[in-house]
Amino acid sequence: MTEPEAIAAARTRIDAVTSAIRHQERLAGRKSGSTTLIAVSKTHEADAIRPLLLAGLRDFGENRVQEAQGKWPALKQEFPDITLHLIGQLQSNKAKDAVELFDVIHSVDRPSLVTALGKAMAETGRQLPFFVQVNIGNEEQKGGCAVAELPALLDQCQQAGLNIVGLMAVPPADIEAAPFFALLVELAKRHNLTQLSMGMSGDYETAVLLGSTQVRIGTALFGERG
Ligand SMILES: *Cc1c(COP(=O)(O)O)cnc(C)c1O
Repeated sequence: MTEPEAIAAARTRIDAVTSAIRHQERLAGRKSGSTTLIAVSKTHEADAIRPLLLAGLRDFGENRVQEAQGKWPALKQEFPDITLHLIGQLQSNKAKDAVELFDVIHSVDRPSLVTALGKAMAETGRQLPFFVQVNIGNEEQKGGCAVAELPALLDQCQQAGLNIVGLMAVPPADIEAAPFFALLVELAKRHNLTQLSMGMSGDYETAVLLGSTQVRIGTALFGERG
């Protein structure tokens, strides 16, 4: 594929996802354009990412700090106005690297990480918006704080100076996601948080209908991961 062909193909995929998002916003009576489309570029190399950048997308998500460090510094030089989102679990010893490279972190989920992020912000002088990730289906071995621990974690974030803008969740696989999205909406409301990072390729239409403000889409924009 030539570069113009790759850009045209990227534009077709972006248009399909965007019009589905707009449709759900209309059905929900929401403002058009109130959902941010984050392209999840994990496992994809810079060559696969550039067509989406050239087609105009500016929000990208990665799940691993080290992988992102390998490809995004160069892409950020070329496209300085991008917003890079960390959507995967973060180890405390990578907190400083993450705060340096990313513009938004969606995976704040435990007290030790809050402490590490507070320290990383002080060291780097960078302030970012954060989401607290909630283990909305109460699944073992899944990232996210337990629903019961959310109030205490939010208090700790406030004390540590983390600007929490919303909640993020990945509902359990292979069952209807809507009840889990609805629970996340309810939790956000209870804590006066306005942003909701929910919805992936398989369930983003439901998520937008229920109020998602940030959908994280990989497969529907890039094709299946290898
Ligand atoms: C990989 C990933 C996505 C994107 O998943 P797709 O099904 O490919 O759209 C979204 N959110 C998180 C946290 C992910 O790890």
